[in-house]
Amino acid sequence: MDLKQYIADVKDFPEKGIIFRDISPLMADGEAYRYATNEIAKYAKDKGVEMIVGPEARGFIVGCPVAYELGIGFAPARKKGKLPRETVEVSYGLEYGSDVLQIHKDAIKPGQKVMVCDDLLATGGTIAATIQLIEKLGGIVVGTAFLIELTDLNGRAQIEGYDIFTLMDY
Ligand code: 5GP
Repeated sequence: MDLKQYIADVKDFPEKGIIFRDISPLMADGEAYRYATNEIAKYAKDKGVEMIVGPEARGFIVGCPVAYELGIGFAPARKKGKLPRETVEVSYGLEYGSDVLQIHKDAIKPGQKVMVCDDLLATGGTIAATIQLIEKLGGIVVGTAFLIELTDLNGRAQIEGYDIFTLMDY
């Protein structure tokens, strides 16, 4: 299936000079959404994934249907202050300043095989921070999966040594 037909290219969002790759038309098409998440589920099954973690908020959109399909769990990684129980956290750099990502302390069991899911790999900062959270809890990141990779930004360099699955490249 040609998934790129379901991605809307939005010029100058969120700021001038940026082309935002909007995944909402893909989510709006039941067949395309199911196809994309099933492809990621096949990858996860091959990797023996036992638990999925997705960063707020579009990581939930991709990761949750995959977890449901495989009958495994999903844990959200969220911006500071959103999770109600005890957390671990990492801070990570953004284009301007930094942000903090947290996960519940009991979200991952030591030794558990984990896949990280997000909609898009850009500079790799978000995925690298999410991997750090999982590893703080003793989880083993056996794979990462994205709908889209922006290859020019070389996010792969941030997560060297980790396996990466993507469905679309720009
Ligand atoms: P990174 O941390 O790799 O630089 O940025 C990736 C994160 O920013 C992802 O969580 C993703 O949701 C968001 N993001 C950055 N640019 C885009 C874009 O063009 N389209 C979408 N859908 N998300 C983006």
